[in-house]
Amino acid sequence: MTSISKAPPLYPKTHILAASGIAALLSLTLLVFPSREVEAKKTYLSLELDNGSELVLREKNDLHPDGLNGDQDISPFAKIGQPSNTSNSAEQSIEADDSTRPNTETADATPVEPNHKTVRVANGDTLSTIFADVGLPATSLHEALSSSKEAKQFSRLKVGQALEFQLSADGQLESLKSTLSDLESISLNKNEKGFTFKRDIIKPDVKTTYARGVINSSLFLSAKRAGLSHGLTMDLANVFGYDIDFAMDIRDGDEFELVYEEKVANNKHVGTGNILSARFTNRGKTFTAVRYTDKQGNTSYYSADGTSMRKAFIRTPVDFARISSRFSNGRRHPILNKIRAHKGVDYAAARGTPIKAAGDGKIALAGRKGGYGNTVVIQHGSRYRTLYAHMQGFAKGIRTGGNVKQGQIIGYIGTTGLSTGPHLHYEFQVNGTHVDPLSQKLPMADPIARNEKQRFMQLSTPLMARMDQEKTTLLALNKR
Ligand SMILES: [Zn+2]
Repeated sequence: MTSISKAPPLYPKTHILAASGIAALLSLTLLVFPSREVEAKKTYLSLELDNGSELVLREKNDLHPDGLNGDQDISPFAKIGQPSNTSNSAEQSIEADDSTRPNTETADATPVEPNHKTVRVANGDTLSTIFADVGLPATSLHEALSSSKEAKQFSRLKVGQALEFQLSADGQLESLKSTLSDLESISLNKNEKGFTFKRDIIKPDVKTTYARGVINSSLFLSAKRAGLSHGLTMDLANVFGYDIDFAMDIRDGDEFELVYEEKVANNKHVGTGNILSARFTNRGKTFTAVRYTDKQGNTSYYSADGTSMRKAFIRTPVDFARISSRFSNGRRHPILNKIRAHKGVDYAAARGTPIKAAGDGKIALAGRKGGYGNTVVIQHGSRYRTLYAHMQGFAKGIRTGGNVKQGQIIGYIGTTGLSTGPHLHYEFQVNGTHVDPLSQKLPMADPIARNEKQRFMQLSTPLMARMDQEKTTLLALNKR
């Protein structure tokens, strides 16, 4: 004990905290290189959904900007409604010669029944050129659009959008309909008073779906092969964001399974909901997760047994300490006398008090860091990061690049850097954003409450059993 302290230090109220120096977390989105492929696939799906009586051209994705050729992807910009044998279809709308064309040969207006015409919006089309192509006069367009406020939505056209015209025997517009998305369509129907606007919204059914994949190049490619959307893959990575560092730890042979909500309308897939349960085997170690909403209405993921919610963070990295300053978004700094946010929590304790790692992780920094003084930054998986500042010194073996276990002593309370007295300044980041480590909102921080254990297990057990069963079935099918 060589350090001699003078008068017993006042509990520091604060210290500097221009918490800007921390390198932003490597965003998971950086890993998402195949997103274009996913987008392309989505487009493909929606085209199929739109497939009415018309020709829908599917192109091989050989013009993909990234050269990422998926097995069945088409370009997101695939020319819709332009069969390859008609070269003039794109320009067709512009020449509009006004003559009614009952037997139009162009691709845009394909007659199905004499008075029903479906038009695909092409580049350069406007509603008036399309009306003209269908053989309707400008007065008809005006009458339809001015019939109501909502009717004007028909003038906001997107390339590829389908417009369905129903004409009367004498060539008057009877109805106009367009499908805006898998779940939404709008229509105008003529009656005695003019046109009535109608919007149809389909509420999708939600079913649960199982998927499994084995990684042999990247999580995103394997997930895509397993039929997971980009968003769902991101969700999966987030669910295991504490346990697994998706930037560093993923290996060929890693395996994932999940049960998730799938939204279905008219027997077509229209989107996904939440991941209900998942299992991820990373380098031989298996992690489980079950989505659970507790009686207070808080939703979080827990490990399947509910007891040991993965390795929860230690909420307080110093024992026998007192909170001397809480997390806030604006307070007066005692040294700088300016309003500054305090993006962490201060724990006042005697000089030399041990500081513990809040969770397992990799030491991103153990060294001096400006006003923070002696600082340790720990990266926990890909999502979480903790910072410990003003240390007197580092514990043995603590150095940049090393690993730490939860609860391991990393250093000792001091007052290095811009600090008014011995304390720990502690910060917690989720995906690069500072959060209050004392808030109850931190995901996965606490195990399931004892009085909800039974309720949780009633949910968890069947979900795990389903994954076991589906996997067995799937593997048996693959063996054939
Ligand atoms: Zn502080």
